[in-house]
Formats: sequence, structure tokens, C-alpha cells
Amino acid sequence: MGTIVCQTCNCTIEHFEDEKVTRLYSKCKEGECQAVHEDLD
Ligand SMILES: [Zn+2]
Repeated sequence: MGTIVCQTCNCTIEHFEDEKVTRLYSKCKEGECQAVHEDLD
């Protein structure tokens, strides 16, 4: 199974069918990205 992950906030955006485990990086829609907080300790 493949997963599309936001490169900014690391949240999972979407899953898609794939023969192997794949991780693609993308970005959330503007306004939905949770990296706005940037509370990285
Ligand atoms: Zn995001």
C-alpha cells in the first residue's frame, strides 16, 4: 500500500493501492496543513 504524506506536517494525506510499501511526499491543501503551529519542542 502506498501512502502520500505531507512533507511539511507529516500527516497522511491519502492512501493508494501499490504492490509495495511506498511513501510519497506532497503537501496538504493550503489552510489544512497542520504545520502552521510549528510546535516542534
Ligand atoms: Zn501538512
